[in-house]
Amino acid sequence: MKPSLAKLQNIFKLETERGFDNRAVLGGLERLLDYWEAEARADGVPEDLVAAVVARLRDYARLTTASRAEVLDGLKRRIQRVEGGPAPERQENLQRPPRKEPHHQPAERQKHPAPPKPQPAPETAHAAEGDEEGAFVEEPEPVVVRTQIPRVPKEPGALKASVTVLTGVGKQHAATLARLGLHTLRDMLYYFPRRYDDYSQLKPINRLWYGEEVTVIGTVQSITTRPVRSGKMQLVEAVVSDGSGALRINWFNPYIGKRLQNGAHIVLSGKIDQYLGRLVMNNPEMEPLEQEQLHTNRIVPVYPLTASITQHWLRKMMNQVVMYWAPRIDDPLPEDLRQAAGLVDLSTALLQAHFPDTQEDLQAARHRLAFDEIFLLQLGVLRQKRAWQDRTARTFITPDEWLQARTHSLPFELTGAQQRALVDIRKDLASGRPMNRLIQGDVGSGKTAVAALAIAMVTHDGAQAALMAPTSILAEQHYKSLLKMLDSGDEPALRPDLIRPDQIRLMVGATPEAEKSEIREGLENGAIRLLIGTHALIEDPVNFHDLQLAIIDEQHRFGVEQRAALRAKGDNPHLLVMTATPIPRSLALTIYGDLDLSVIDEMPPGRQPVSTHVLPPRELERAYSLIRSEIFKGRQAFVIYPLVEESDKSEGKAAVEEYARLQAEVFPNQRLGLLHGRMKPEEKDAVMAAFRDKQLDILVSTTVVEVGVDVPNASVMLIEGANRFGLAQLHQLRGRVGRGAEKSYCLLVPESPDEMENQRLQVMAQTNDGFVLAEQDLDQRGPGQFLGKRQAGFSELQLANLADLHLIEKSRRFAQQLFEQDPELSQPHLQLLAETLERFWGGGRGDIS
Ligand code: ADP
Ligand code: MG
Repeated sequence: MKPSLAKLQNIFKLETERGFDNRAVLGGLERLLDYWEAEARADGVPEDLVAAVVARLRDYARLTTASRAEVLDGLKRRIQRVEGGPAPERQENLQRPPRKEPHHQPAERQKHPAPPKPQPAPETAHAAEGDEEGAFVEEPEPVVVRTQIPRVPKEPGALKASVTVLTGVGKQHAATLARLGLHTLRDMLYYFPRRYDDYSQLKPINRLWYGEEVTVIGTVQSITTRPVRSGKMQLVEAVVSDGSGALRINWFNPYIGKRLQNGAHIVLSGKIDQYLGRLVMNNPEMEPLEQEQLHTNRIVPVYPLTASITQHWLRKMMNQVVMYWAPRIDDPLPEDLRQAAGLVDLSTALLQAHFPDTQEDLQAARHRLAFDEIFLLQLGVLRQKRAWQDRTARTFITPDEWLQARTHSLPFELTGAQQRALVDIRKDLASGRPMNRLIQGDVGSGKTAVAALAIAMVTHDGAQAALMAPTSILAEQHYKSLLKMLDSGDEPALRPDLIRPDQIRLMVGATPEAEKSEIREGLENGAIRLLIGTHALIEDPVNFHDLQLAIIDEQHRFGVEQRAALRAKGDNPHLLVMTATPIPRSLALTIYGDLDLSVIDEMPPGRQPVSTHVLPPRELERAYSLIRSEIFKGRQAFVIYPLVEESDKSEGKAAVEEYARLQAEVFPNQRLGLLHGRMKPEEKDAVMAAFRDKQLDILVSTTVVEVGVDVPNASVMLIEGANRFGLAQLHQLRGRVGRGAEKSYCLLVPESPDEMENQRLQVMAQTNDGFVLAEQDLDQRGPGQFLGKRQAGFSELQLANLADLHLIEKSRRFAQQLFEQDPELSQPHLQLLAETLERFWGGGRGDIS
């Protein structure tokens, strides 16, 4: 009898003996299907029998005992008919290799740090899955694959098995791996190296070139630590030599100094810079050299680590998982698509991404995996968009003359770009489907006015609107400006199509409870038509009578859940999100593909561009005197310090220290305020308010000030440590000044007189256009700048570089094509892709971005 059928018979027999309790296979009989189907085909079992087995067993768990007996009996008889009674097993069939050949000869693999070990068979993995960790043996008996019938699971359910099924991973190691987010075998398969050390192409120090990215191995000759910038920072200088030459290394991180020792062998990765005519490396990655790495003579993966495991150990575990599972994983991408997109198959990609044979293989592997990420992201976003478009929403139609009158009652004339955004919104509101629009406009481009008119259009018909901003100071500012913009002036009071000041309310964390409960009542009975607030607005149990428009300002400051929570306050309300983060269009289409986009790319007239200068650190005094003279004219100034290091807990440390120094030594006669992220929200608000109300001359701050606060009287923005910021972020900061009609200044002072850095900053002096800067930033620093809070899907992006617009375009195009053919991914050959998509989006759909 064919081995696959013989096995089935045995299982059926066992199951019958157990009284059909569905325990003959751990995890239930349907688990069998994970691999049996492929086995049976390989055995040459007739297709109709395979189909029958699959169809019957799929629902086995849900059947009554009697039906289970019937099903098994029926299948047994069918098998008899096909096979004509039991026959001895043929040994040669047991030697069948896995359906998918690993792409490399085993002999070639021998040079890997850890050659593939005997692996636990999938049953072992299943056992672990069902059991609690504690119930599982620490070191499972390795099952020798060769002597088993090879299992070729279709979508290997066994990948869900806990990492404890690995030889050498007990409970303690599992806990350590969990800290890296590695719980299952699949997690490991998709845990990619942080970098690769290509020991076949190591560069000796005497052959390094300025500007190149390299890995250097050497011995520490000397280490010195000295304070720089008048004691504000510690510079660690080391000299490393490799026999061919010596290289100077600088770290602006005192902790490195503690980890380094004279004579230590280390591996450095980074960019070769130049200082005073000599080659140096600034802040390279550093790792102690392990002998084992050296002797591998290949491209060695280097994984992110955590305390108490070594690179060596983790690499061995990864090797175990990758070598066994990568060849057995099924490719969710349909073959034709893969061909058309010129991608290697998933098994190859996973193998090569971990243990590459050549640089080309590595590139192809990473390209394939990055493609998948964007592709899945895009499919999800398209699905989201369609889900939105399937819903219906209240229709709002505003008469032309009415809208014109509203527009004319604004204190200024709208710019062309504002008008275009308004046309888009008006169309959305009249469409009968929920508006789902992103307004993207540079700082100061006048998004609030557009929001005001959107609100007017909705409240015109008696419905309610809500606007959520990330900070109370900003909410309060919106409250004031919306009161002004929605003011009906001397038009007759009590016109139902206009909103009255008493129908607009503000709710922030600090709003007294009595007032909050009054607001709740007003919202519930419909007396309040517009609520403005912070997240207090979604945390509070407020119920709206009829919320039809939800607006979110500075949307990147909010998580997806918060946006969903605001929308949930109404019944399919129209949604408008606003951002000042200038994202290049191609990127916006990927990240915000589920939103319609209006761009406000024009500034209100009469703005003076902010006069921007890059000053070397030694000319800081010039900046101070400019501030003094501006204050003398009655103006105010911001002084911004970077977070010295995000990882250490010293957020705001530089700002705190500098604040004391500035107050004592530089501006003893001026009033200074301090703002940083570790202050309580009330404290921050109080300081911001004092600055706005001109009780302070200078606001010393970290980047918390970035969000759109309007202090038109401020005319100087001094940014120290400017090299630590992305251009997009610098631009946001610069947007805090230049809001009035008078000349304003932005002064950028990098930490060192480094030429390249200065060149990058010079772009700020050359343009005031946020989009130009964003494109530059994307080129130079990658997309991290744009992605504020975690967005659904983004946590999954490990390999895709959003700066790679070519890849993005390609993945987007293929995703779009596939979606147009089969949006539900319902064709059988897309089944695996559909499951992969679910998993990528974490089961939940998230909310719109
Ligand atoms: P942002 O887009 O950064 O949110 P705001 O809506 O806060 O910008 O507008 C910035 C400033 O520009 C505000 O003081 C606002 O009153 C003013 N403003 C907006 N639109 C216009 C316009 N069309 N003409 C003149 N001033 C405008
Ligand atoms: Mg704004």
